[in-house]
Amino acid sequence: MLQLPHQPLQVAAVPPQRTPAREDQDSPWHTEAVCRRDEAGLFFAPSKEPTAARLSREEAAKRVCARCPVMIECREHALLQPEPYGVWGGLTAAERRVVLARRRRRETELKKSASAA
Ligand code: SF4
Repeated sequence: MLQLPHQPLQVAAVPPQRTPAREDQDSPWHTEAVCRRDEAGLFFAPSKEPTAARLSREEAAKRVCARCPVMIECREHALLQPEPYGVWGGLTAAERRVVLARRRRRETELKKSASAA
């Protein structure tokens, strides 16, 4: 079975059904993931994590992502799935929601301008 980066150390906040997107099954980007062994538990929140601890952990995870050779592929995977939890591709779940909202807005604007033309 295909194994995603930082999957082995999931914690309670992460649902067990983290199956890869169809495209990912044909693309081995995850094999180059820097976070394959998330021994520090940086990428997912433990339950009842205080805000200051979460922010600090997420920043540490993002520093790992910044030196990851598959950051773009990972980010797109997390946006396309979409992955609801954890840091993926240097983005937190909240940041991914913002990116997705912007994409939806842009698509809507493009459709409107296409239909007006
Ligand atoms: S970008 Fe970050 S979350 Fe994605 S594979 Fe690399 S280290 Fe892991």
